[in-house]
Amino acid sequence: MLDFTRASGICYGTLSLSPLQCELSQNEKLQLMHYAFEKGINFYDTAELYQNYDLFKMFFPIVGRQNVIFSTKSYAYSEKTAEESVNKALIESGTDYIDIFMLHEQESIHTFRGHYDAIKRLLRFKKEGVIGLIGFSTHYVKAIKDLYLKEEIDIIHPIFNYQGWGIVDGTIQEMTEAIILAKENHKLILAMKPFAGGHLTSDPVKSLQFSFQNKYVDATAVGMRYKEEIDFNLAVFHNQQPDSILLKVLSHKKRTLKIADWCKGCGACVEKCQQGALKIEEGQCVVDMEKCVLCSYCAAVCKDFCIKII
Ligand code: SF4
Ligand code: SF4
Repeated sequence: MLDFTRASGICYGTLSLSPLQCELSQNEKLQLMHYAFEKGINFYDTAELYQNYDLFKMFFPIVGRQNVIFSTKSYAYSEKTAEESVNKALIESGTDYIDIFMLHEQESIHTFRGHYDAIKRLLRFKKEGVIGLIGFSTHYVKAIKDLYLKEEIDIIHPIFNYQGWGIVDGTIQEMTEAIILAKENHKLILAMKPFAGGHLTSDPVKSLQFSFQNKYVDATAVGMRYKEEIDFNLAVFHNQQPDSILLKVLSHKKRTLKIADWCKGCGACVEKCQQGALKIEEGQCVVDMEKCVLCSYCAAVCKDFCIKII
C-alpha cells in the first residue's frame, strides 16, 4: 500500500506537458519536472491520453524512481484493456510499479459498472504490488456520490475550483459535499483544475488557496508550463506572498484552444466534450471559450490533429 503521506500537496499535472498542449522540447519539459522536484514537488500525474510516458522514462533515472509518486489513468473498460493500459504505462515510463492508477472520466455507477472488468484486473495488479492505489477521475458530482462507498476505490480525482467551473452536473457546493462524504469514508482526494482551465486566472491566489487550504483535499493537481508558474504555485501553497513580477509574467501566458482550418467537421470532438463547448457551424468545429475548461479530451479524439491548446 502506497504511503500517501509522503506525497507533496501540489501534484504536477502533466497534461500541460503533453503534446496535446505543449510545444516545448522534451528537454525543456524534463527541466521543468526536475525544477519542480527540486522545489519539493514529488507527485506527478499523467494519463495514457497525454502521450507523455516517455518523459517519465527520462525523469525517473534522474531523480530516483522511489522518490516520485507516479499517477496515471486510462479509459480501460475490460480486463484486457486494463492489462494493456497498465503494461503500456510500465513499459513506456520505464518502471515496474505505478503508485496510482485511475479510470479516466467516470460519470456515475453506470459507467463504473461498464468498466468493472477493468477494475477487477486492476485489483489483481494491486494484489501483485504493481499498482499502489486505484481510483477514478471525474467532472461529475454523481460519480462521487455513487462511488464513495466502493471499497475498490482508494482515491478520487475530481474537478474542483471555487466557481464550480467544469462540474457537469452540479455546483461547487454539491461537489464539496460529495468530497466530504468521500473523505469521511477514507477516500483520498486529488483535486484538479483549480484554475478551471484558465477561467479563474484573474485571481490566481484565491483560486489556488481554495483547493490548497481545503481540509478535505489531500493534494491538488496543477498544470505548469513555466518555472514562474511553479514558483508562484509553491509560494501560494506555503502561504508566502507571491512575487508580483511572477503574477505579471503569468497573466501574459493565458492559454486558449485553437481549431485548425483543415477541420472536416466530423463532430467526434463535439460528442466528446462534456462541457458543451464545441459545435459544428458551416462544416467546421467552433469552440465557445466561455465553456471550455481546456481538458484536451476533444484534442485526443481528433484524428486530423486539428485541436491544440496553446
Ligand atoms: S474531431 Fe477534428 S476534424 Fe472532427 S470536427 Fe472535431 S476538430 Fe474537426
Ligand atoms: S472544448 Fe475540448 S478542451 Fe474544451 S472543455 Fe471541451 S473537451 Fe475540454
